[in-house]
Amino acid sequence: MSVVSIVRLQDDDVEDAVRKAVSLSQSFESVEWEGSAVLIKPNVVRPVKSGSGIVTDVRVVEAVTKLVLDRNPGSVIIGEGSSVGYDFPDRVDSMDCMEVAGVLEVAKKFGVKVVDLNHDEQIEVNAPDAFVMDTFAIAKTAWEADVILSLPVIKTHVRTGITCGLKNMKGVLPGREKKRTHQCGLDRAIVDLNRVTKPGITIVDGITGSQGANCDEADQVPLNLILAGNDVVAVDAVCATVAGFDVGEILHVQLAAEAGLGAADLNLIEVRGEKMETVRHSFIPYLQAAQDLYGDANIIEKNSCTGCMGELVSTFVYLKEAGFRDRLPRLTLIMGGPDEIPPLHETPVVVGRCAQKFRHLGVFVPGCPPHGTKITDKVCEALRIDQKIVHRSIAKLHRA
Ligand code: SF4
Repeated sequence: MSVVSIVRLQDDDVEDAVRKAVSLSQSFESVEWEGSAVLIKPNVVRPVKSGSGIVTDVRVVEAVTKLVLDRNPGSVIIGEGSSVGYDFPDRVDSMDCMEVAGVLEVAKKFGVKVVDLNHDEQIEVNAPDAFVMDTFAIAKTAWEADVILSLPVIKTHVRTGITCGLKNMKGVLPGREKKRTHQCGLDRAIVDLNRVTKPGITIVDGITGSQGANCDEADQVPLNLILAGNDVVAVDAVCATVAGFDVGEILHVQLAAEAGLGAADLNLIEVRGEKMETVRHSFIPYLQAAQDLYGDANIIEKNSCTGCMGELVSTFVYLKEAGFRDRLPRLTLIMGGPDEIPPLHETPVVVGRCAQKFRHLGVFVPGCPPHGTKITDKVCEALRIDQKIVHRSIAKLHRA
């Protein structure tokens, strides 16, 4: 049975909570520390201060670094590769992001090396039984690490519902591979990545999470928790539940379990410490926030997962950028497996394999999930919008 610990912070003592979470989950016990090459991988996707709910709280990075050094491993590196939009040599890169978040200061304090994983030497790897990415390049530091400690933050995400331990591993991919994960289907690509570089230990910064569209301070969710475990799938399943989601609807976590990477079924996970029900706090899903921000479309759906939902948000963003937001009230979308479809006045866009039994009703977008640009094209067709105008906006958006 997979074990995940949940510890509530007492008196804002992060180090104490990390120690307790690690001890309760016994996650350090299964590691052969002596002589090991250790990679500590926080989530520092952009240049944002610690405590924002967007990047890993630096106090967690500090506490974990201390605990790891206490075990006398062979070497310790803190590494991160910031998001594609924050990796420009002349403007901002991972090092700048880690400086703003306070990670460089921690590394200096403990004499630990820091690596920008976006610009590390790259190793071409094979993912056995891959869904979509058989071969891809990863940072050499991650490939050579005997043990990876992933330190994610609990956040909602536009395409994957939540982002936590599994998705945090995207930081080991160079920029072109990060982009590729979106092109070939993010949920499945995350699983393929973890087939190769699954963290041995995941310690979650659940002190402050981030909900909705992760825009600003209003989206911060104070949970005051630290969670830990060896099974990253189980940790993500627990974090999704704590954040108020039905883990059955978080596609990449389900696919990771299907691929044999860990347990997503809560019945197969032993939770130690706080109970999930007592610490649960329903995060506003990204889609809901995006709909508030961008959309007035009529969505008829049941049980659609984050794959289609996430791609759909891209469509809303693209149409808004192209100046067609006012057309959205005329748009009807069918997704997942609704029991019945009410009488419709407009041609609906039927999105994804799950909804294909309704394809005869309107314009069908095949795929699981279909890519956001394909959905956008069919929405343009249904709303009689010139696709070329929208494509120009998409190109501009991705250049920005
Ligand atoms: S087609 Fe179904 S399973 Fe596939 S991404 Fe869409 S809702 Fe999820």
